Amino acid sequence: MGNHLQATPGTSPLHGWTPRALYIHIPFCTNKCFYCDFNSYVAEGQPIDAYLDALEKEMERTAEHIPPKRIDTVFVGAERRRC
Ligand code: SF4
Repeated sequence: MGNHLQATPGTSPLHGWTPRALYIHIPFCTNKCFYCDFNSYVAEGQPIDAYLDALEKEMERTAEHIPPKRIDTVFVGAERRRC
């Protein structure tokens, strides 16, 4: 049984190509809209600093395993967004 997450450096483990766009999910909003089915939460009382610390570590590890050669676009699902 192999590690299915291992990849050749510089390639995606799923598709064999290097991602050129990045989406960073920050799932905290000022309120939860009644129609929303996104993975989002009311920011008040949430462990936002811990989330950001974990996000930073995940980004570092991802860059180690799949070094980005070039990123054309960065999307940020940001706190206080309005959809
Ligand atoms: S602002 Fe957007 S993400 Fe946040 S709760 Fe409303 S619809 Fe969902």
